[in-house]
Amino acid sequence: MPSLPVVVAGAGPTGLMCALALGRQGIPVIVLEIEPALTHDLRAGTFHPPTLELMAPYGITARMQETGLRVRHWQIRDLSGEFVAQFDLDLIADVTPYPYRLHLEQHRLTPIQLDILRRETGADVRFGHQLTGFVQQADRVDVEVAVADESETIAASWLIGADGGRSTVRKILGIEFEGFTWPEQFVVASTHYDFAQHGFALNSYISDPVNWAAVFKMPHDGPPGIWRAVFPGAPELSDEALLAPEAIEPAMQTIVPRAGAYEIRYKSVYRVHQRVAKTFRVGRVLIAGDAAHLNNPMGGLGLNSGIHDAVNLADKLGRVWRGEAQEALLDLYVRQRRAATIEQVQAMSIRNKRLLEERDRQVQRERLTELIATASDAERARKYLLESSMIAGLRRANEVQ
Ligand SMILES: Cc1cc2nc3c(=O)[nH]c(=O)nc-3n(C[C@H](O)[C@H](O)[C@H](O)COP(=O)(O)OP(=O)(O)OC[C@H]3O[C@@H](n4cnc5c(N)ncnc54)[C@H](O)[C@@H]3O)c2cc1C
Repeated sequence: MPSLPVVVAGAGPTGLMCALALGRQGIPVIVLEIEPALTHDLRAGTFHPPTLELMAPYGITARMQETGLRVRHWQIRDLSGEFVAQFDLDLIADVTPYPYRLHLEQHRLTPIQLDILRRETGADVRFGHQLTGFVQQADRVDVEVAVADESETIAASWLIGADGGRSTVRKILGIEFEGFTWPEQFVVASTHYDFAQHGFALNSYISDPVNWAAVFKMPHDGPPGIWRAVFPGAPELSDEALLAPEAIEPAMQTIVPRAGAYEIRYKSVYRVHQRVAKTFRVGRVLIAGDAAHLNNPMGGLGLNSGIHDAVNLADKLGRVWRGEAQEALLDLYVRQRRAATIEQVQAMSIRNKRLLEERDRQVQRERLTELIATASDAERARKYLLESSMIAGLRRANEVQ
């Protein structure tokens, strides 16, 4: 049996989940994180039922529920509020103990993961440690690390690159990152203004050819919480121009016009991609989460799928590490998770965005009318919810051999 640790590059949600799922099996793990502490930015916030199920055995879900918002209903609507399709997750209460979307900031998930990782496993988490390179040997990977001005080499049994969209691990492996980048930028702005008073569900998507948006309520520091809006920004504008009050205020007023100006607490801007790595494994090196795939945030699928990757990979790598299975089992991880990424996450997130931004008003109205009909028919709504909640796609991917 090998004694060398598994090295995980990246202490984001995917890397920490890999480390926890391996550490719980008694496997030595070293996590390398370039930043001096966990990162804190306005990214993911929606967790779907299968993700909550996968994290529950580690005690993460229960901790998330202490502060997360349980969102039973979500909507797709037009700007006027004339067309509103509202879905009720209670329709799938027979297939999951978590028939809701849990809203919790990504930067509140990672401290929970890290706390459990440190309490319950011997994992060694090293902040301020940057993976700079690696060399694959027949029986190990020599991982090169920069710490301040020094460099060191760690002998690892396996290396997992969970180092985000710009993954150094993926680049060193030379894996093609196939796909495209959306032309528009995505602006995120948070306000205490309460959209629920205008009939918005706590998770609402607005379909409009120009001013499409997503509006979510997040727990923030506790009640009353905060609302987060995501909307498109012109491709040619600088971050500074997109985040200027003169740009954000009219966008917010378009979502819901109000007499006073919006008080904006947080704001940020992102470039968004749809990309999938050609493979998730080369020899003793694997990639997971954003390092392996990127998608737009419509539907809240990216981080969720990174957690699905982590649990799938840790289960298989654990068996290989203990010598209970051949390395070929890791190729099943690649097949299952690439299938889930391509057939579920990429397809759904692209479809969601195209639905929101449909240019032809007539087509847009027809689609919303169709969605309203779906949402109000229990059988059709249930089928739709099994897909949008990632349940059906995950089941299909896990059946891939
Ligand atoms: C606006 C927006 C909204 C989103 N909303 C949702 C949502 O509601 N639901 C959802 O599921 N997803 C959502 N996502 C996607 C989600 O944020 C990402 O999928 C998620 O952060 C991926 O986690 P990760 O751990 O794979 O990567 P990351 O979170 O990027 O973590 C990678 C880590 O690796 C570290 N690192 C990088 N290079 C190195 C190196 N060389 N050495 C050591 N460490 C390194 C980084 O510092 C970082 O901590 C959203 C994204 C955006 C932009």
